[in-house]
Amino acid sequence: MRPRTTFNTLKRLAAAEAMRLTRRPERNRRRFFAGQRGLRMLVFHQVFPEYRRHFEQLIEWCQATFDMAGPHDVDALHDGTFTVGKRDKLLVTFDDGFANNFDVGCWLARRGIHATFFVIPSYLGRTTAEFLEFHRGQSVDAFPMGHRAPHQPCRGMTRDHVRELRDLGHRIAAHNYAHRDLGRLDGGDDLAYEIGRSIDEVSELVGTPCRDFAIGFGGTEHVTAAALELLHQRGQRIYFGVRGINASGSTPTLLLRDMISPSWPLSFARQVALGGLDDRACGDRAQLAEWSEPLPGQQLG
Ligand SMILES: [Zn+2]
Repeated sequence: MRPRTTFNTLKRLAAAEAMRLTRRPERNRRRFFAGQRGLRMLVFHQVFPEYRRHFEQLIEWCQATFDMAGPHDVDALHDGTFTVGKRDKLLVTFDDGFANNFDVGCWLARRGIHATFFVIPSYLGRTTAEFLEFHRGQSVDAFPMGHRAPHQPCRGMTRDHVRELRDLGHRIAAHNYAHRDLGRLDGGDDLAYEIGRSIDEVSELVGTPCRDFAIGFGGTEHVTAAALELLHQRGQRIYFGVRGINASGSTPTLLLRDMISPSWPLSFARQVALGGLDDRACGDRAQLAEWSEPLPGQQLG
C-alpha cells in the first residue's frame, strides 16, 4: 500500500515549512533550555511496511544530524556522567513491543544503532484479541492495542524476537502490563499488576533486572503520585512522552521523549526531532520539574 496524502499530511508539510523558516527549533532551545545541548529521545510505536522507507530515511537523516546515543546514555544522565559534543545526542525508542518492531530493530543494529524497546510482556506472542482475552481472564479490561490501525493485523513480537533484539545490543524495558491508564488507577493491586508484574516479567525474559519503565500514553495526566512512588521503589528510570531535550543539571530526572511517526512527512518529522514542537510541552515539563529533581551533573553546551 502506498502512503496516502491526506489533509493532515498537507497540514504537516505547511507546519514543517513554517518551523523551518522561523527557526523554531533553535528558538525553542534558547527559550526553554538556555541554549543547552543534551539527549533527545524519539518514541516510535508501529512501523508499518508502507512507511518503512520513511522510517529508514528519517533514521539516516538522524545519523547525519545528531550523535547517535545508546540506552547507556540514559544511565549516564542519571549518574551525572553524561557528555555531549557539538550536537545533541539522539536515542531511538519504541513503545508497546509490536511485531513489526523486530525487523526494524535488526535494521538499526546493522547500522550500529542501539535502541530501547519498552515492551508489554503480556502482549508478546499474542494477537490483540488474545491479549484482551488473557487480561479478561484476570478480570482486567486491557487497552485494545493497535486500535488506531484497524486495517492492519496487530500482534506483539515473539519472546524469542525480543531476546534476539537484546542479543543485538538493544535494551529491553517495561511498559504498562495491560496498557491501562495509570492516571485512572489508584488501587495498590492495579498498580502492582500494571507496573510490578511488567518489571518482573521483563527482568525474567531478558535475564537481567529491568531498570527502565515508560509510562503508557506518556502524559503527566497518565500517572499518579502512587504510581510514581511504586516506580521509584522498584528502582526505575521513568520515561514520559513529553517533548524536550534531556539536559544535565537542568531538566527533570523524569525523562522527556518526543513522539514521532514514520507516517509523517519527512520534513515535519525532522523539525520535530530538532525540537520544533518543544514549545507545546512547557506545561507538562513544568509539572515533571515539580515532581522531580533536575538531572545531576554540570549544565553542558
Ligand atoms: Zn504504549
